Amino acid sequence: MVEEQNTLARYIGPVCRQCRREGMKLYLKGERCHSDKCAIEKRNFVPGQHGKDRKAKLVGYGLQLREKQKVRRVYGVLERQFRNTFERAAHQKGITGDNLMAGLERRLDSAIYRMGFATSRPQARQIVRHGHIELNGRKCNIPSAQVKPGDVISVRETSKNNPTILGARDATAHAPAPNWIDVDRDGLTGRIQGLPKRDELVQIQLNEQLIVELYSK
Ligand code: SF4
Repeated sequence: MVEEQNTLARYIGPVCRQCRREGMKLYLKGERCHSDKCAIEKRNFVPGQHGKDRKAKLVGYGLQLREKQKVRRVYGVLERQFRNTFERAAHQKGITGDNLMAGLERRLDSAIYRMGFATSRPQARQIVRHGHIELNGRKCNIPSAQVKPGDVISVRETSKNNPTILGARDATAHAPAPNWIDVDRDGLTGRIQGLPKRDELVQIQLNEQLIVELYSK
């Protein structure tokens, strides 16, 4: 049921359940994900009455589907948006899987997370939606907006004392920004320097080729 809801609308159930469903940390809750309060540390089995018994090894379609759901959950993207990102990736030069991941990573909310102005992608999405961000000097509250080389992303002047953003910046001080974004942490701004490379992307293990196979049927 939860799975079905996921394909129709944004998931609004317990966040950690998504990680347990995938059997791995998806880092959706910021600092909590790095603490011993993380649900994966405490009960890493599929949620539900028979969760502990579900140990069958996935193959074929099941494996491809899980890989897609995992990536969708990491980036908080709806099925239709995800499919559109895939179609764009498939029409670009290069390897479709790499293009897909780069397209997801270049979402404005993901860039804000990468810059260290949010502790998780869901938090970054909320920061963007609440109008705290400007893109090239203009307010942008669209989390899915694609950033490109040369773009300047900034926390708006009126939001520079926002406690959520400042708290996130402090909490992520140890985490370096990726090479494709030049971040001025004091100025709460950054410039996109290039395109994200595959080895700089998500911190979880995934095989995007399985997603390409799923959509190529
Ligand atoms: Fe919850 Fe984060 Fe752990 Fe996932 S990684 S189970 S979101 S605390």
